[in-house]
Amino acid sequence: MPVYVVLLGPPGAGKGTQAGIVAKATGLAHISSGDLFREHIKNQTDLGRQVDAILKRGDLVPDDVTIAMIRERLKQPDCAAGAVLDGFPRTPAQAQALNGMLAEFGGKVDVVPFIQVQQDELISRLSGRWVCRAQGHVYHETFNPPKTADVCDVDGSELYQRDDDKRETVEKRIRVYFEQTAPLIDHYRGEGRLTEIDGAQAIAKVTEDLLKALPEQAQ
Ligand code: ADP
Ligand code: AMP
Repeated sequence: MPVYVVLLGPPGAGKGTQAGIVAKATGLAHISSGDLFREHIKNQTDLGRQVDAILKRGDLVPDDVTIAMIRERLKQPDCAAGAVLDGFPRTPAQAQALNGMLAEFGGKVDVVPFIQVQQDELISRLSGRWVCRAQGHVYHETFNPPKTADVCDVDGSELYQRDDDKRETVEKRIRVYFEQTAPLIDHYRGEGRLTEIDGAQAIAKVTEDLLKALPEQAQ
């Protein structure tokens, strides 16, 4: 049976960083809704044109558009063993739709690690974040620098700073998170699927705690 892990946490908590590491360690696919939108924007697809301004403002893309994109992604062959979902679901309607989709694949949301980090730390993480153009590998100029400045350690591509990592947009995204996504914490806690993870620890220690939280068949 496939295993599905939903990473919850505010922008800057370390979801993308950890999803990349955990996916590699377990063989699960890494699905980042933000990376998928950015890929559409880069390739100037219809969807990319539709969502570009929304991402720049730090608002959420409408549920129907986001759900349709994730539904297609979950059907890809690399998701056969399951997936680590990073940035989806972000609203109660998305969480409900996800249950329906996973049921189609004979699975369910197995575990929801909630990565907790204080708000002032989130802002310094996001303002120092650098991302690789080719595949979205994540760095931080102080906390997780690349071996060579401006170059991705993994694929050698150029690093850039996201448009929406400007301070005003970061503050907006954190507000949007508290208004629209934070209700999912109690929802998944009520279902007994939530595991709290201290995201203020070093990256390797967060990974260790996350791996322990996964169902046995994924470890
Ligand atoms: P999210 O996907 O939740 O928005 P990221 O994984 O992109 O968060 O991490 C945000 C920034 O914080 C990146 O620059 C990343 O290198 C850095 N970072 C991630 N985890 C940690 C950590 N445990 N300690 C310090 N910095 C971290
Ligand atoms: P992220 O890469 O997760 O920080 O997401 C970047 C941006 O993409 C967000 O600020 C939203 O505009 C959009 N986005 C990503 N995931 C979702 C989602 N599940 N629902 C709606 N919008 C999303």
